[in-house]
Amino acid sequence: MAFDSLSSRLQMGLRRLTGKGKLDEKDIDDMLREVRLSLLEADVNYKVVKKFLADIKEKALGEEILKGLNPGQQVVKVVREELKKTLGDEAVDLNIKEHGTTIVMAVGLQGAGKTTAVGKMALFYRKKLKKKPMLIAADIYRPAAVDQLVTLGKSINVPVFEMGTKVSAEKIVTEGLKKAREEGCDLVFIDTAGRLQINEELMQELKNVKEIANPDEILLTVDAMAGQDAVNVALSFHKDLDITGIILTKLDGDTRGGAALSIKEMTGIPIKIMSTGEKLDAMEIFYPDRLADRILG
Ligand code: GDP
Repeated sequence: MAFDSLSSRLQMGLRRLTGKGKLDEKDIDDMLREVRLSLLEADVNYKVVKKFLADIKEKALGEEILKGLNPGQQVVKVVREELKKTLGDEAVDLNIKEHGTTIVMAVGLQGAGKTTAVGKMALFYRKKLKKKPMLIAADIYRPAAVDQLVTLGKSINVPVFEMGTKVSAEKIVTEGLKKAREEGCDLVFIDTAGRLQINEELMQELKNVKEIANPDEILLTVDAMAGQDAVNVALSFHKDLDITGIILTKLDGDTRGGAALSIKEMTGIPIKIMSTGEKLDAMEIFYPDRLADRILG
């Protein structure tokens, strides 16, 4: 399971404290060393680790904690709070309008789980908000991408707008949005092209699509297994597109935790959605506190 090794290492480091009646600075330093190792092993960015430890130390050495009745447990509480803060603090749902059409543009590297996530979100918000979704197939480079989206749409009974792969993404999006309005679809997801690597041509096309669609959300799909590499991917997409949220995928795998714990702190972009499996109902709003609880047990 995801975070297993981080989780057991952190818990081990903290367990030593909870049994103690009194704590001194050395106990705290020993604990911080364990926490540091477990975070670095989980591939968390070193800047994030540094800040995380400094914040814990400052709070953990506070008078009221060291002199409190159960200092060990209070330190665990401090770590839990910091973990939650690093993951983004509060859950942030998608910005979906009550009235009028909401446009969500999904971007990301190939294979991160973008197309799957688009289908999941359509299903999720149709159920949750009674929206009428439409999917636009604007990935014209990967031959199977359009077919994949069409098959996905059929399986969840959501209309898919496509014009094959011979027409420009810009044209497809222009026509798709027109169609969505005609059909009264009020939640449109644009599935854009994913490449193996970021390149100028891809970015330019995405910028053009953004200009045409004027989306309410631009969501970047990030594979949690990518570790802190995900941070660099996010920063380059963010620079050109002003990403509004992250979809963190494959949290059901054996990810070590680096991406989840680094990305908000390093980019400022909130993780809004998490994907936890290949099935289309395996998606949740991202709750930092729930994940922090899961990690600390
Ligand atoms: P895209 O290229 O970004 O559009 O990626 P796809 O949506 O086609 O997904 C790539 C592969 O990852 C597919 O085999 C999906 O079934 C799989 N996948 C997507 N999301 C998840 C997830 O949350 N967990 C797991 N285990 N697999 C996923």
